[in-house]
Amino acid sequence: MLRNDMLEQWDRENFFHPSTHLAQFARGEAPERVVKGGEGCFIEDRDGNRFLDAFAGLYCVNVGYGRSEIAEAIAEQARELAYYHAYVGHGTEASITLSKMVLDRAPDHMSKVYFGLGGSDANETNVKLIWYYNNILGRPEKKKIISRWRGYHGSGLVTGSLTGLHLFHNKFDLPLDRILHTEPAYFYRRPDPEMDAAAYVAHCVAELEAMIEREGADTIAAFIGEPVMGTGGIVPPPEGYWAAIQAVLEEHDILLIADEVVTGFGRLGSMFGSDHYGLKPDLITIAKGLTSAYAPLSGSIVSEKMWAVLEQGTDENGPIGHGWTYSAHPIGAAAGVANLKLVDDLGLVKNAGEVGGYFTAAMADALAGHAHVGEVRGEGMLCAVELVEDKSARRFYDPVGKVAGAVVAEMGKQGVIARAMPQGDIIGFAPPLCLTREEADRVVAATAQAVKVAL
Ligand code: PLP
Repeated sequence: MLRNDMLEQWDRENFFHPSTHLAQFARGEAPERVVKGGEGCFIEDRDGNRFLDAFAGLYCVNVGYGRSEIAEAIAEQARELAYYHAYVGHGTEASITLSKMVLDRAPDHMSKVYFGLGGSDANETNVKLIWYYNNILGRPEKKKIISRWRGYHGSGLVTGSLTGLHLFHNKFDLPLDRILHTEPAYFYRRPDPEMDAAAYVAHCVAELEAMIEREGADTIAAFIGEPVMGTGGIVPPPEGYWAAIQAVLEEHDILLIADEVVTGFGRLGSMFGSDHYGLKPDLITIAKGLTSAYAPLSGSIVSEKMWAVLEQGTDENGPIGHGWTYSAHPIGAAAGVANLKLVDDLGLVKNAGEVGGYFTAAMADALAGHAHVGEVRGEGMLCAVELVEDKSARRFYDPVGKVAGAVVAEMGKQGVIARAMPQGDIIGFAPPLCLTREEADRVVAATAQAVKVAL
């Protein structure tokens, strides 16, 4: 095994870490953890310290760490056929089987799945498909995409533009043209504290309608949203939000992309967030839970309505000019097949609903009455604790979440990993879907203790 000091030196000299304060890292001030192993909900670092990972990596290791069923499927695929492409109608047993498994689980009106590598490229694919679709339908002006402030949809050029978080735009010259942002479904941060859920939904609808009116419905192609907003603060929508938004989109012939990179494959206690909230999307983005991150793989699930137009488009224009070398990579596909089987065999969708509900309720109980806990919220195996300096004014401590960062650092000392979300003082939890009640109790106890120490 390499010596720790050597590894640290190589790390500093060579490795460009994503989403990292580069200068602090270079000075040795940023948190650093070299992870070596994992089992169930736990990871272990090189020094043998164990942590309960209450964020499942980046809300992706849904079945938990160390699942030999998936490791073996990957090894077998690598031995038999590590790679073949999926262009011009090629496939492998794994990729074809996985496409069937995905469609079997997706809402009934969905038709096909295109496989990419990660959530960002899947959303990039979605935007291209929507532009292609409207060009085929002879409406070249209908191209703008409406996203939401605080939404997260990736960090590429188009997807970083769809993302509605300052950090991902700042100094990158984003957002690009054609991308608009509207009100997020963030009830706790409603503009007027007197508003009830129905009034706030009406406000979100009015904002959307005003934008459509301003821009012209014939220029707007699609709306993208996460069924439960994730990176923007883990924010479940208020009752009635999605039905009301969907009605506006239908009225103006605007497509809906449900970005289910986090919510897909069980995290909310339903197979898809679209089932959970009665959505009828035209495209569904999937990634993380598709393989539980055992290998990179994402997908764009296309509705029957869009598929008919795409097919017609290729009769008029030739093969669709879109694809990556690694689209439907056999190793990712083999991981996906083994992973979705495990999700079924272990009953993880049900567990996410049951233990997730228990977890959020226990967290709310443990923090009830704390002067600086503004809200505890959650849905399925997603939970957030929002910290505020002034509870009645709902004022953030710090726009970049330094206080949440201190709480999370304190939790780390107790062997529990949570995430300080990137905008506002919000502690996020997205444990593996196999979390037990005992593990949930441990996360809650560590949070309560850390909040006490840090605030
Ligand atoms: N969409 C959502 C909802 C996400 O949460 C993420 C990543 O966290 C992405 C897209 C981007 O996925 P990736 O990081 O795999 O590119």
